[in-house]
Amino acid sequence: MSSPCLPPQHVIARKRDGHALTRAEIDAFVRGATDGSWADYQLSALLMAIFLRGMTPEETASLTDAMMRSGVVADLSAVRGIKVDKHSTGGVGDKISLPLAPMVVACGVPVPMISGRGLGHSGGTLDKLESIPGFRTDLSLDTYRNQVARIGCALIGQTRDLAPADKTLYALRDVTATVECIPLICASILSKKLAEGIDALVLDVKFGGGAFMKTLPEARRLAEALVAVGRAGGKQVRALLTAMDEPLGRAVGNAVEVAESIACLRGGGPADVMEITYSLGTHMLLLGGAAASPAEARTRLENTVRDGSALAKFREIVAAQGGDARVVDDPTRLPQARWQVALPAERSGVIARVDAMQVALAALRLGAGRTRAADAIDPAVGVTALVKIGERVSRGDPLCVIHANDETALAEATTRLTQAIVVADQAGPAVPLIADVII
Ligand code: URA
Repeated sequence: MSSPCLPPQHVIARKRDGHALTRAEIDAFVRGATDGSWADYQLSALLMAIFLRGMTPEETASLTDAMMRSGVVADLSAVRGIKVDKHSTGGVGDKISLPLAPMVVACGVPVPMISGRGLGHSGGTLDKLESIPGFRTDLSLDTYRNQVARIGCALIGQTRDLAPADKTLYALRDVTATVECIPLICASILSKKLAEGIDALVLDVKFGGGAFMKTLPEARRLAEALVAVGRAGGKQVRALLTAMDEPLGRAVGNAVEVAESIACLRGGGPADVMEITYSLGTHMLLLGGAAASPAEARTRLENTVRDGSALAKFREIVAAQGGDARVVDDPTRLPQARWQVALPAERSGVIARVDAMQVALAALRLGAGRTRAADAIDPAVGVTALVKIGERVSRGDPLCVIHANDETALAEATTRLTQAIVVADQAGPAVPLIADVII
């Protein structure tokens, strides 16, 4: 039950009138979300008041801490070393966690990683991993802890006892137009990440048409808030601001992104995926104490690809989580779609645009994503061999290959992809992939 001294309407009125909430008031709100003692309409009213009035950095830090403590906080103190995770705010073709985690672990830094599922245009690491036959992401916190101690890494989904307040609040935000609010986003992301038992976190805050934050200034505000709140929670946190106007890499989907990740670990990955992976990895190694300089970190990461140790670590993680490790050597064992159809260029020229959002919507239509949390996905479908901005094509060259299991979906995705990929006489100026690092 809510505290008699702090009835919900009192807390809501204080925020409605523009006051900073006290820690006790924030605790009452989070407790109300966790034990059901606040009605959904009261939680929603306060969410809207926060959306309209904002929160001070201190309130945001308190909200994050209260949400983190709404459930279990994993204790990884038995795992030796500085535990470092990465979080991306989400993009299209963002498979970075898959090559990144094994590379960083191969350099000696433990990576406990709790990831999410795809929703809307954004793909999810869990869905990608689960396209590996047998791969389980629903490990208990005990198994997670033991696996991180044993092999340096576990890639799992959010358990019910981790930051449960976020689950309730996020579902309400989704239907009350209160998602796009920096204090609420910070508390939501960081409460879950800090409950993992990590010491340090590197954030990939994306901006552009295929990202949650559409512009660099918006992404910068979010990144600065995330770094400040993470620090207030006693963690080392850095954020990279990275462009998300065209998809990352050449594959968008689930099994197709696993195959591309394996190619990265074999040294044959697309340049943009490798660049983001090495850059995030560099900061993870620096925070994890595994390198003294960015140059040393980069060399160490590159060596894990050259000497096969990152690929071996990925194989070990797949096997530990029940997956068919043979896919690492033979990606054709991953689910394959019935049709694989090339989309030909209608004219010769230079690729001027590959609209990430449109590509994501095409992949969603094929069945690679979900519009509601309960939807099932088709692991085999998606897009591969996507052209990149600045590349030259001749009329009839493939712009991408569409992997489909349904003819109507194939036709609709083809229409969308035809609009998404623009061939022109010339491309605009190249946009830097990494705009800034917030330290
Ligand atoms: N991702 C989250 O986990 N929470 C948000 O609020 C936004 C993105």
